[in-house]
Amino acid sequence: MSRSLHTWYSLPDLDVLARRETVLENAIALERLPRLAELLNRKAGSINARLAFRRIQDDVLILALECDAELELVCQRCLEPVTVRSSSDVEFVVVDDENPATVLPEGVERIVLGGDRFNPAELVEDEMIVSLPLVPKHASRDECGQLARKIDELNRESADEHEQSGGSLTQY
Ligand SMILES: [Zn+2]
Repeated sequence: MSRSLHTWYSLPDLDVLARRETVLENAIALERLPRLAELLNRKAGSINARLAFRRIQDDVLILALECDAELELVCQRCLEPVTVRSSSDVEFVVVDDENPATVLPEGVERIVLGGDRFNPAELVEDEMIVSLPLVPKHASRDECGQLARKIDELNRESADEHEQSGGSLTQY
């Protein structure tokens, strides 16, 4: 069995990885994660990901995922690029869909897998998508580009114009 974060694993494959307490660790190029890449301003770069497999209580399969990356988004204040550090550290229990009643340890998420196969890179992609800031911004207004100041000026000007043109109607 080849082992990488891009491999598709069946439940028995994951079981073997867990019994051997395998750790998969690698950088995943953003260009291989198209759903995440399309949310970014720049698609170059990579995500550092580490996935550790283990078993607890003899029959519960645990995946511990850690990933982090510096991602370039568009600042919603100045519309210029802003780099944000995005990271995730989460544990999952893999549940067989024929036996979904497995009791989950506290604070652990669930991956239901039966006849399906599992791709670690897709899990990394999902985690990084949910960890992106909803409204990316430079840390302070001083770090924002010229445009933020121009927009402020334009807003002031248009407020003034609105006052001056108030009440005028188009003549036919
Ligand atoms: Zn900004």
